[in-house]
Amino acid sequence: MAHSAEYTRGPAGRVVDVIAFLIFGVALGLLVYRAVSGLVNLGTTAGVLLPLIAVPLSLLAADLISGVVHYLADNYGNEDTPIVGKRFCKPFREHHVNPKGITEHGFIEANANTCIVALPLVIVVALLGPYEGPWLTFLAVFVAFLSVAIIMTNEFHKWAHLENPPAIAKILQRWGIILAPDNHDVHHVAPYDTYYCVTTGWLNALFDRLGILKVEVPGDHRDAEILHAATAREAREIILKKMKEQSQAQGSDPA
Ligand SMILES: [Zn+2]
Ligand SMILES: [Zn+2]
Repeated sequence: MAHSAEYTRGPAGRVVDVIAFLIFGVALGLLVYRAVSGLVNLGTTAGVLLPLIAVPLSLLAADLISGVVHYLADNYGNEDTPIVGKRFCKPFREHHVNPKGITEHGFIEANANTCIVALPLVIVVALLGPYEGPWLTFLAVFVAFLSVAIIMTNEFHKWAHLENPPAIAKILQRWGIILAPDNHDVHHVAPYDTYYCVTTGWLNALFDRLGILKVEVPGDHRDAEILHAATAREAREIILKKMKEQSQAQGSDPA
């Protein structure tokens, strides 16, 4: 397999990633046990109703987090930025140059970064239990699904770029439960300034309308150079440079 020979983060990175997944698995197992125990103690009605509220809210929160992280990684810092540069800025920037590259990564490689982000949260909440009563049980269910949704975000993103995703992905995409290809396509169209949420994509249209997590790129977005920019930040820099050059070429300010 072509992708298994070259691990993006090298052999040491692969060991770190596998260990992160193993720790996550143990912590999530404990948290799920605590969540289920809490639900059983609540009785049938509350035990069924609580997940019906907690699970959609956890997916919404994961979508928001994915949007904030993606927006920051696309538009701030670079691959040399300490701590986050190599793990976040670099892959997001490379993804814009080669959107299909993500489809060549195996599960661990594609999802280790989000696993590392979710790890502290799931460990802390798992260890703080046991949980009793509606509010604390809600917290356990919410964090369990939030952490899984955060980890699966890059997988959902990857599925949105696959020509032929797994059957389960097609069903979830069709039902609007995870990021659909046509939703995410908007982010890959110049000037790449919007639709940063990549878990479910539920917030994208709303945020675009409200101008939240949106980069203002002035000028003509069909400009040939903008089409070749990788991110909104690059497109914005190109346009602002052009505007400056044009105003300099027109001579002194007539005003
Ligand atoms: Zn992006
Ligand atoms: Zn993408």
